This record gives sequence, C-alpha cells and structure tokens, in this order.
Amino acid sequence: MTTREDPLYQRDYQRAYRKAHPERKAFHNRRYNRKHRKRLKAKYDEWRKANPAAAYGYSRAWVLRNPEKGRAYQAVIRALRNGRLTRGCCEVCQSSDVHAHHDDYSKPLAVRWVCAAHHKDIHRKEILL
Ligand SMILES: [Zn+2]
Ligand SMILES: [Zn+2]
Repeated sequence: MTTREDPLYQRDYQRAYRKAHPERKAFHNRRYNRKHRKRLKAKYDEWRKANPAAAYGYSRAWVLRNPEKGRAYQAVIRALRNGRLTRGCCEVCQSSDVHAHHDDYSKPLAVRWVCAAHHKDIHRKEILL
C-alpha cells in the first residue's frame, strides 16, 4: 500500500494541514455551512427534538451570557402573543420571513423587522438602516 492510500496517513496529513492552516478551516467550514444550511438546520432540529434537555440547557446558557438580549427576546415573544406587537416585513427586501432586530436591547419592544439575511448584514454592519 502506498502512503497515499493509507487512511491513517491521510488522517494525519489532514490533521497536520488543518493545524497549519486554521484560517482555511474556518473558510471551508463557512462555505460548507452555507452550502448545506438546510440539511444542517434539519439535523439540528432533529437533535433538538431528541435532546430537549440539552437544547434547553444551551439556550439557557446563552440567556445567562446575554441577559439583556434574552429579556428583549422574551419580551418580543410575549408581545407577539398578546398582540402588542405585530410581525412586519423585512425593511430591506419585504420578505415576510422575519426576525426582530433590536437597535437597543434596553428597549425590548423597539424592534425592526428584517429577514435572516438582512439581519445578518445589520450585525455585520454591512448595511445600516
Ligand atoms: Zn431582507
Ligand atoms: Zn439584530
């Protein structure tokens, strides 16, 4: 067997390569995530269903790390439920599949409705509304 066909050699080589080029790994991961977003999301949803306690723990940990954001988020959910807030369309592209974006988390009901893509742009500061 040549080293090229040896799976152990391949594994070590890839490991060393990833170690030597961490930025490349991030790049590939991003590209992979973009390409397989739907499948990854489905997988995650499945995992969440199978491990509700763990998933709850994760979101709980996030809220503990981001208490103000967590509160703002909860306030939006509540307000949508009791009718104080109605979901709008994306301010940029009019998509109806929207997130609530907070310019200021201390004003939990002052939200802007934006789709996932434009929401990401806002946080990357690529667009300003
Ligand atoms: Zn949009
Ligand atoms: Zn936001």
